[in-house]
Amino acid sequence: MPILYHSTNQKAKKVSFREALLQGLAPDGGLYMPDSIPQFTADEIWAFRNMEYHEIASQVIGKFLQDEIPTADLKALLKDAYNFDVPLENVYNRNYIMRLDQGPTASFKDFAARMMGRVMNYFLRQQNRKMLILTATSGDTGSAIANAFYGLDNIRVVILYPETEVTDRQRLQMTTLHKNISVIALNGKFDDCQALVKMAFNDRELDHLELSSANSINIGRLLPQSVYYFYAFSRLAKSMNDEIVFSVPSGNFGDLMGGLIAKQMGLPVKRFVIATNDNDEVPVYLHSGNYKTIVPSCSCISSAMNVGHPSNMARIIDLYGGTMDENGNILASPNVEKLKNDMYAISIGDAETKATIKTVYDKHKVMIEPHGAVGWAGLQHFYNDNSDIDSKNQLSVSLETAHPAKFPQEINDILGIDPQLPKSILGLEGKEEKITPLENDFLKFKALLLSGF
Ligand SMILES: *Cc1c(COP(=O)(O)O)cnc(C)c1O
Repeated sequence: MPILYHSTNQKAKKVSFREALLQGLAPDGGLYMPDSIPQFTADEIWAFRNMEYHEIASQVIGKFLQDEIPTADLKALLKDAYNFDVPLENVYNRNYIMRLDQGPTASFKDFAARMMGRVMNYFLRQQNRKMLILTATSGDTGSAIANAFYGLDNIRVVILYPETEVTDRQRLQMTTLHKNISVIALNGKFDDCQALVKMAFNDRELDHLELSSANSINIGRLLPQSVYYFYAFSRLAKSMNDEIVFSVPSGNFGDLMGGLIAKQMGLPVKRFVIATNDNDEVPVYLHSGNYKTIVPSCSCISSAMNVGHPSNMARIIDLYGGTMDENGNILASPNVEKLKNDMYAISIGDAETKATIKTVYDKHKVMIEPHGAVGWAGLQHFYNDNSDIDSKNQLSVSLETAHPAKFPQEINDILGIDPQLPKSILGLEGKEEKITPLENDFLKFKALLLSGF
């Protein structure tokens, strides 16, 4: 039986992976979740230590797709998606960081976006359909989507950015690609870009363009985030009894969801440390049982984690047997004991984040950036609060979710060093840019989309 996908709001009908992927949000406003979590045997997981990253990916993702994509095709897609390193760097004893920053935009979001783009393209080609991904960006999302979808033949990407509000590097990552990636510089602000995109989605005269947003809550962006947990275990564990502690710096909790799913599939995980910045609504929930969104969200240096109401919270509650609506109301209680057993949650402020970057560099000669530092600091708190666990023998992996060179100012202020840019981002200066300027006017935007510019 193929796995079906249900909505966290429980009202929409269950659909196949393909439908869930192409729809994004369920019609009842909920997020799609696999109806059952497929299982690996211990032997299957142990065999991963002889496989490359993309091969492990095809084992893990294959379990969720069943027969929706033939194995050989899936393997080819994933080999193409995961053509970069996933370094595991030792910090001390058996404590590691996993660098998820070697993809084209140097953030862990590349893992999800690259698979999602390829799988979407595969299904569209099968149905002889074309789609137009429309996205407004203040910088990072646009470049990640552009790079992930670059060169896919059944998908066109149109990105709108506020002319004066993105950095040169962010702009170059979008405007030097060409092919199926079109970039519009709007004479306006980020909010204006978002408003135009929203109006386009609501304009029935644009329906034939098959607009889609490829946004971060898509199930296609969740499942690929289970793979690197298996990968880390496969490279570091001495046996199937060698349970890992993972520390996951979290904002919208998609990364953590990937880990929780991996554990339910059979991965030997001792505990997840979930580390947030001052946006501590989830740590507070796990400690008190009360969930309260933070509005507006706090502004911290780990800026990609400034989320006051993580949309994936509804998925976590669903995975543990409860129901939460879009507004954060818990309609059916999850298994809180199990949640607490699986997770240790902590909030880390900016001062400690900066101090951690400094200590880890001074003591271990390992450079981490603000998001990874929140994760690493969380792991140290976990050891301090759990004296039965010995940090000298325990195997742990803390996720480093972006490259330090993406935060040159912070790193320079704290360490007095200019971090080396990764290869993927070097060499953009001087490449030919293609940018379409646009006034902040919906009719002009619509005409541009219809012209197939
Ligand atoms: C998005 C992001 C995070 C947070 O990941 P979630 O899945 O939203 O919890 C952490 N670090 C970086 C660099 C990110 O871009």
